[in-house]
Amino acid sequence: MERRRFLAKAGAVTAAGAAAILDAPNVIAQPRYRWRMATSWPPKFHPPGIAAEMLAKLAEQMSGGRLHIDVYGAGELVPAFENFEACRQGTIQVGHSAAYYWAGKEPATQWFTAVPFGLNTQGTQAWLVSGGGQKLYDELYSGFGLVPRRGGPTGVQMGGWFRKKIETTADFKGLKMRIPGLGGKVVAKAGGTVTLLPVGDIFPSLERGVIDATEWVGPLQDERAGFHKAAKLYYYPGWHEPGTAGEFFFNKKAYDSLPVDIQRVLDAAAQVADVWSLAEHEAGNAGALERILKHGVQLIRFPDGVLRDFRKLSEDVLREEADKSQFAKKVHEHYEKFKKQWLEYSNLSERAYYHMMFA
Ligand code: CA
Repeated sequence: MERRRFLAKAGAVTAAGAAAILDAPNVIAQPRYRWRMATSWPPKFHPPGIAAEMLAKLAEQMSGGRLHIDVYGAGELVPAFENFEACRQGTIQVGHSAAYYWAGKEPATQWFTAVPFGLNTQGTQAWLVSGGGQKLYDELYSGFGLVPRRGGPTGVQMGGWFRKKIETTADFKGLKMRIPGLGGKVVAKAGGTVTLLPVGDIFPSLERGVIDATEWVGPLQDERAGFHKAAKLYYYPGWHEPGTAGEFFFNKKAYDSLPVDIQRVLDAAAQVADVWSLAEHEAGNAGALERILKHGVQLIRFPDGVLRDFRKLSEDVLREEADKSQFAKKVHEHYEKFKKQWLEYSNLSERAYYHMMFA
């Protein structure tokens, strides 16, 4: 009797509970968030500018409109390379950029964008997602009050645009080149003068001869930047950036204050933008290169001697940069250990496959 009465009561509660759940969207006002993102690219610059817009759009749609992000290109809210600081301060809640631009704050950041003669995009992805790299990335950025997510790989980049021919490593002596990160330090070691310009400022500098050479990404992005109108020698391969990836970073306080479901929305949206970005480069590079070559551009492979010298210089640079901070040392050792093992199997898989295909 007691039991029957209890069950009847429980049933009523359950029915009432179900009704409450059905009515929930009408009665419970969920907090809404309005965020600002600043990128390091001109507005809607394809693909990174579009990847930034994509994250904002997906966040809005996947959160049912609870998170709205306004996206600003470089210079619209803050200069191209000021978004890291702006996000730390909480002036903006999201940045879209590349980690090696923050080398001056902490040398370890450089490993999370590109390592000369390092992992390609697949290897970098494997290191970050399944090899423990993301844990280091999170730890490093939490020291800045930020949460990092990979935000757009480019594949192996091109070696860059040169106004004078490169025959030996000595040709880099006195050469003024726009090249960031660890690769830039290798060029400096070879005697070059290295500058770091945001993409919107590279073309005028190259055209006016303020710089003699620049790297950016590869045909898809380089065509849009118009470098073929300012220099005619297009070098490959991109020894300096074999597995480059952009990044999103979120202000940690703002991110942590979101409900968990919206945090996961941001993580997932960053992944979608990341996958899309690689596909855009892989699908668009070949066609863009064909169009570029119609402008009297000469495609040249770096001489073997230069690549050999740069490989040696890269090892020195990596060691020296790793010695600059404890965290850089930790990341460098972790990365090298992963790379060694990854390369051994790649020799039997990727390398053997390409070797066969191009034989
Ligand atoms: Ca680059």
